[in-house]
Amino acid sequence: VEFSPLINRLIEDLRCLPGVGPKTAQRMAFHLLEHDREGANRLAATLIEAVEKIGRCGLCRTLSETKTCSICQDPRRDRTRLCIVETPADVHAIEHVTGYRGLYFVLMGHLSPIDGVGPNEIGVNQLKVRFKECTFEEVILATNPTVEGEATAHYLAEQVRAHGMRPTRIAHGVPLGGELEYIDGGTLSHAFNGRLDIE
Ligand SMILES: [Zn+2]
Repeated sequence: VEFSPLINRLIEDLRCLPGVGPKTAQRMAFHLLEHDREGANRLAATLIEAVEKIGRCGLCRTLSETKTCSICQDPRRDRTRLCIVETPADVHAIEHVTGYRGLYFVLMGHLSPIDGVGPNEIGVNQLKVRFKECTFEEVILATNPTVEGEATAHYLAEQVRAHGMRPTRIAHGVPLGGELEYIDGGTLSHAFNGRLDIE
């Protein structure tokens, strides 16, 4: 079916969202145009503002619209512990289901040499700067229990040790190949709190 050029463009652009195929994009486009033009305007305005204003926290790299995010700014956080995760969604998950009150560092991905993602791309330089500025009693490696996440955790463990600090790894209960943000709260909480020293 051929739609008008602008409708086609809308459908095509909606497909940049994860998990949205041609059919879903088409449904979304018609929903907005037929039933929710106000919502569409709000969405468009928010998208523009979010993309313009949301950057990275200078300390932990998570998404933030201030130079330093609210967690890094919070004086009540335990500054002797650093938890390294792959995504801002992981920070959210850990905050909600564990009693963790330390700081974070967000890699925004994992090592993946095949895709050209090396230490620089996941912020290891920035992490080393933090290791020089602060001494953490524990650095928790909470990358996903996938092949890439495990490889990343082992690489980071070496860096942590090289700076004279103690790396730990989240424990059992997290299914292999799983992603933290999709794991149920009880399982994540158990795995997080049962973390072990990493070899
Ligand atoms: Zn931060």
